[in-house]
Amino acid sequence: MIDEKLVTIFDQLVRRNAGEVEFHQAVREVMECLGSVIAKHPDYLDQALIERICEPERQIIFRVPWVDDKGQVTINRGFRVQFNSALGPYKGGIRFHPSVNLSIIKFLGFEQTLKNALTGLPIGGGKGGSDFDPKGRSDGEVMRFCQSFMTELHRHIGEYTDVPAGDIGVGGREIGYMFGQYKRLTNRYEAGVLTGKGLHYGGSRARTEATGYGNTYFVQAMLGTRNQSFDGKKVVVSGSGNVAVYTVEKVQSFGGKVIAVSDSSGYVVDEAGIDLELMKEVKEVRRGRIADYVRLKGEGRSAHFVAVGEDSIWNVPCDVAMPSATQNELTGKDARALLSNGVVAVGEGANMPCTPEAMRIFQEAGVMFAPGKAANAGGVATSALEMQQNASRDSWTFEQTETRLASIMRNIHDICADTAEEYGAPGNYVLGANIGGFIRVADTMRSLGV
Ligand code: GLU
Repeated sequence: MIDEKLVTIFDQLVRRNAGEVEFHQAVREVMECLGSVIAKHPDYLDQALIERICEPERQIIFRVPWVDDKGQVTINRGFRVQFNSALGPYKGGIRFHPSVNLSIIKFLGFEQTLKNALTGLPIGGGKGGSDFDPKGRSDGEVMRFCQSFMTELHRHIGEYTDVPAGDIGVGGREIGYMFGQYKRLTNRYEAGVLTGKGLHYGGSRARTEATGYGNTYFVQAMLGTRNQSFDGKKVVVSGSGNVAVYTVEKVQSFGGKVIAVSDSSGYVVDEAGIDLELMKEVKEVRRGRIADYVRLKGEGRSAHFVAVGEDSIWNVPCDVAMPSATQNELTGKDARALLSNGVVAVGEGANMPCTPEAMRIFQEAGVMFAPGKAANAGGVATSALEMQQNASRDSWTFEQTETRLASIMRNIHDICADTAEEYGAPGNYVLGANIGGFIRVADTMRSLGV
């Protein structure tokens, strides 16, 4: 429930951003937590400040024309929402997916602002993307699309202004093509303008692994508050991109057994435990579909594939659920199924993967719940470490970088846990993350004036 003193601010936001349902959902979740802040510190009941936090500083929408392999000119729409620069240059990924629209980019930019604040590093929040669908496109088509996207984007970004990175549909290959185009257009080798770069041109070790590792560290810390750990636990991880692959890797190293992973075509159950090398071969080397995992392993040999629509991955019984695919992928119905199968913890690897109803069900049942804006912050935190390495023209070892990542995640966990406690809701990481992020951004914006 939104506190009655804040209802008019939220209603006005909904009217002003009509139809942007994902954006409303992300803001509502934060607003629902602010009641406890204004009860304790009435000076935060500052309508203009709250409105400013919810209004992006700048929203750029642009045309992206490109030529496909048949010589046909195709037009997509590009977005960059520069949400908040109180704490540092705008920072956040670029998503290429047909579902991308302004509402999705705004919800992601808003979440990113609070997430980045929780890292304690000097980064503001932003997000970008396009409705371009990379699926089935040749390497040449992806390159031409990335170049055209950057032809417009380059005038809006820079190492002190706005530093994009990857997200769904944008990995090392796409970042490389975009960085190449930025360099060509500006005649500057400005390594700190993008993160998630290849290791030989300014990328950071452990960046690819960071989001999945970070979520696993966070959930491990959360389990630790109840004297539990991943050891011996059955885990389901949705998705099969970077976040999912490196969640599987870290969970396994902590003694957990991941028994299911998915992609947009369906999911794979492997009762023997997901074979990580095979998953990497399918998704990273072959850029294939997750169904190929079963084909390569040999049908019937402990693994089977379930096509999308036939059943939900969340019906697979597990102790820990780590949704790492996309927003609103885990519904109230899925949450009830997980509960009846005895789930004890949920760690969001994706951004806003649980619907509000699913979150409520987990919280009311006392399931440990790690919200994405805290638990998946390891990716962007390591991007900030990449910026540090670029600024000092240095390159750290994997171990150095992972050690920093682990301590950042521990710190985010503690901020969330302590803030929840301070505001009278021990164990409520959603409240802890939203208030912890909000206060850092709000206090800084006040210091900087209107
Ligand atoms: N796309 C990632 C996120 O949602 C990473 C962003 C970044 O590294 O800038 O946090």
